[in-house]
Amino acid sequence: MKTIFEKIIAGEIPCVKIHENSDCIVILDINPVKKGHSLVISKKPYPLISDCPNEELTKLMETVKLVDQKLRSVLNCDATNVIINNGPAAGQEVPHLHIHIIPRYKDDKLKQKFPHEAYEDDEMSNLGNKLIF
Ligand code: AMP
Repeated sequence: MKTIFEKIIAGEIPCVKIHENSDCIVILDINPVKKGHSLVISKKPYPLISDCPNEELTKLMETVKLVDQKLRSVLNCDATNVIINNGPAAGQEVPHLHIHIIPRYKDDKLKQKFPHEAYEDDEMSNLGNKLIF
């Protein structure tokens, strides 16, 4: 079954598109955290980052950089959150690789903080050893 983003890319569902290139489209999120919240959407329906070839991922991130610059210049925002929900357990609702760029302002009072866990004794260095690559 097609994802909603495949339908948008195919022109079957309307969207507000602000950019398109060979690898992705950029649209405004229909349910923005802040107005101007944009989505860089891979044209190919890779579900996860690890499914996307490096070259295409690089191009997606180059596009994210352009979106960030555009949001800062047009909206005069102070910062952006750049977020990928990389799988359903991380809150990904549409299983089709996309990157959120959310404009942020010094006084916007949005909280975007996760709670923290504490490591015990050697747990952190042991885990670090396992994760070395
Ligand atoms: P995620 O939870 O990372 O999969 O994010 C999916 C995003 O797609 C959400 O922020 C939705 O608001 C957005 N979205 C869903 N349908 C549409 C649509 N038709 N046009 C624009 N954005 C959409």
